[in-house]
Amino acid sequence: MDFEIAEEHRMLRDLVKRFVDDELVPKEKMILEREATGGGSALSKEETLKLDERARELGLQGLDAPAEFGGADMPAVAMVGVNEEMGKTCVEYRFPPDSPNLRMLDVAANPEQREKYLRPYAEGKLTSAIGISEPGVGGDPASMRTRAVLDGNHYVINGRKIWISKGGTADFIILMASTDPSKGAKGITAFLVDQGHPGYIAERKIPMIGGYYTWELVLEDLRVPTSAVLGEVGNGYGPMQLRLSTRRVQMAAVCCGRVRRALDMMREWVTQRKTFGALLSDRQTIQWWIADAETKLHACRLMTYNTAAKIDKGDHARVECSMIKVFATEMADEILDKAMQSFGAMGMTKELPLHLMASRNRLARIYEGPSEVHRMLIARYALQGRVPDLV
Ligand SMILES: Cc1cc2nc3c(=O)[nH]c(=O)nc-3n(C[C@H](O)[C@H](O)[C@H](O)COP(=O)(O)OP(=O)(O)OC[C@H]3O[C@@H](n4cnc5c(N)ncnc54)[C@H](O)[C@@H]3O)c2cc1C
Repeated sequence: MDFEIAEEHRMLRDLVKRFVDDELVPKEKMILEREATGGGSALSKEETLKLDERARELGLQGLDAPAEFGGADMPAVAMVGVNEEMGKTCVEYRFPPDSPNLRMLDVAANPEQREKYLRPYAEGKLTSAIGISEPGVGGDPASMRTRAVLDGNHYVINGRKIWISKGGTADFIILMASTDPSKGAKGITAFLVDQGHPGYIAERKIPMIGGYYTWELVLEDLRVPTSAVLGEVGNGYGPMQLRLSTRRVQMAAVCCGRVRRALDMMREWVTQRKTFGALLSDRQTIQWWIADAETKLHACRLMTYNTAAKIDKGDHARVECSMIKVFATEMADEILDKAMQSFGAMGMTKELPLHLMASRNRLARIYEGPSEVHRMLIARYALQGRVPDLV
């Protein structure tokens, strides 16, 4: 077993670190003020486009996109270092294209869809969303109520989606609907739908904690041709799982980055702040917080690399993805909270990036499957020895 990171991947990580230090960290003050004054915590479209341009100049676009579309075809293990660096700031930015939908399109898109959607997506020219969750149907997508009914050479889709990130802004959405409710997960089909398509209504923008927004969507007699089916009819669930696995590895790496930043800030602070005549760093409580945090970070990083390596070998690593999703998000919650505590009142301000990183991290214990549902999958695997179709 080789625990060394390839030289090429180490260099990529160093480059991303420079990008984060030079381009994102200087924007933290602006983002913190924007969030504190009710403007959300996202970069504007113009700010994002400028960063995309810089990323392109540095060769950081399309890192894990297929080579046939000009991408660098980087394996999942290379992306762990990339995403850990990206997690070290409260300025949320992803090098285009966002990997999970890229993976799903890559395995499921037919030749026409590859040209229409995957190519411009891989080139960073289109943005996408995914619509799985519905009011009343969240962590259990197999019971989804949105229906797609065949009508000649079209499908007519009716239903409602909720909590959809970028649902009202992305150029296209991968929309999950049931084409055969009697088959549960095996009756779910994925459709490619353009923003603004008649019947696709971005009804409500929902403010979430951490200055984040999601969307509620209404699908009202949305007619799409059968050529809009992504992959096979009734087999939307498989490629969707691949997408979710990619996101979960990405999330775990981002959590490692958040923790690294929190610990770096904490170290700087506790080695200069004195209370009751002694440095905070001389207190055993603080030392144990730091020791435990470093230990968990080390464990989390190893688990994340191991899961990524399995994915690179063609294994879906469903159980490992659930394990790292739970472990990483809960670890980061706990350690960000300890870091905020060590800063006293300063840690409660909206001037430090910690609160924003903590709120964004809190969201991560819900999206891509709540911790409890992942624990259910892990437990079923441990008790029954097989991976259930849950999340
Ligand atoms: C910031 C954010 C972004 C999101 N983006 C998207 C998106 O882009 N696309 C999309 O489709 N969805 C998105 N979601 C939705 C997300 O995937 C769902 O919120 C999630 O799957 C949980 O569903 P729910 O909210 O309906 O919770 P429910 O299913 O109602 O569950 C509520 C709570 O009950 C508990 N629970 C549920 N099941 C079990 C169980 N079996 N055992 C024990 N406890 C259980 C958990 O604590 C859970 O948090 C997003 C959510 C958030 C917060």
